[in-house]
Amino acid sequence: MGDKKPILEVKHLKKYFPVDAKHTLKAVDDVSFTIYEGETLGIVGESGCGKTTCGRTCIGVYEATSGEVLYKGKDINKMTAVERKEFTKKVQMIFQDPYSSLDPRMKVHDIIAEGMQIHKLVSSKAEEIKAVQSLLEQVGLNPEHASRYVHEFSGGQRQRIGIARALAVNPEFLMCDEPISALDVSVQAQVVNLLVKLQKERGLTCMFIAHDLSMVKHISDRVGVMYLGNLVELADSDVLYQHPLHPYTKALLSAIPVPDPDIERQRNQIRLEGEVPSPMNPPAGCHFCNRCSYAMEECSCQTPVMREVEPGHFVACHLYDEMK
Ligand code: SF4
Repeated sequence: MGDKKPILEVKHLKKYFPVDAKHTLKAVDDVSFTIYEGETLGIVGESGCGKTTCGRTCIGVYEATSGEVLYKGKDINKMTAVERKEFTKKVQMIFQDPYSSLDPRMKVHDIIAEGMQIHKLVSSKAEEIKAVQSLLEQVGLNPEHASRYVHEFSGGQRQRIGIARALAVNPEFLMCDEPISALDVSVQAQVVNLLVKLQKERGLTCMFIAHDLSMVKHISDRVGVMYLGNLVELADSDVLYQHPLHPYTKALLSAIPVPDPDIERQRNQIRLEGEVPSPMNPPAGCHFCNRCSYAMEECSCQTPVMREVEPGHFVACHLYDEMK
C-alpha cells in the first residue's frame, strides 16, 4: 500500500465461543491483516465463516479470545476511558438489518441526533436540526423525513438513515456488516454507490463484510476471503478477481453468474463438494481439505500459513509453499 498509514492492525486474532463443557465454536481462528487509511477492505465468505464475528471483534463489540487489534497503533483492549470514548466516536458500524437496528419508537431526527448529543457535537437545538437535515440530504433523503418514524420508510431508505446516524459523529472508520444483504437486489447497488460516494467525499476507511462477491468487488480496494474462521487469501480487488490463487476463492468466483447466457453455458464452473464443516469441529490441517480437489497428503495434517506470494497478494495454501 505504498506510503499509506495503517489504521487498523489485526494480529493473530481469535474469537472462540464456549458452547458447552466439551465444545468451543472457533468463529475466528488466528486471523491477521491490516487496513490502511482511506481504503475499503472487503471481507467475503459463506455464512458461518466468521466474517461478522471478525468485524465485530475488530471494533471491540466482542472481546477477543486472544490476539491484538491496534487502532492507530493503540490496542483497543488497553485504551483509557477517554481513548475508548473517542474510539467509539471515530469507529461506527452500519448494520445488516435496517429493520431491527433502528428504534421504531424514535423519530428519524432523534435517531440521527443521538450520537451528536452523546459526544456533545452540537451546541444548540437549531444547530442540531440543521446538522440532521444536512445528513439526510447527504444520504439522498428529504430533510422533511426527520419528523417521521422508521416504519414509514422502505428497506433502502432505512439503511440510508442508518448511514446518516453513523456519519453524524464524523467517524474515520466504518464497519459495514453486510449492509446490503437484507435489501432488494434493485436497491443494493444504490446503497453501495452511496457508500462509495460518501467514503470518497469524507476520506473514510471502511471494512465491508459481505457474502456477495460481485458487490464487494465494486466497493473494495482490497478483498480478503474467509473460510471457517481463517483468512485464506487477501489481495488487491482486481488481482483477486482476475488471478485468484486459493482453490476456495477460485470456487467462489466461478459461482458468480455471468449475465451473457453464451458465456455462462461455456464457462468452467468449479463445484464445491460436500458441506462446510462445523466450526466446532473443523478438519485438521487446512480447514478446506475435505472440499478441495487439489488436496495433498500434508493438507490434512499441516495448517497452511498466510504467505505473500506476490507483492500484496497473500494466500494460505500448501500449493504455494515454495513461492516466497
Ligand atoms: Fe487445498 Fe491443500 Fe491448499 Fe488447503 S492447503 S486449499 S487442501 S491444496
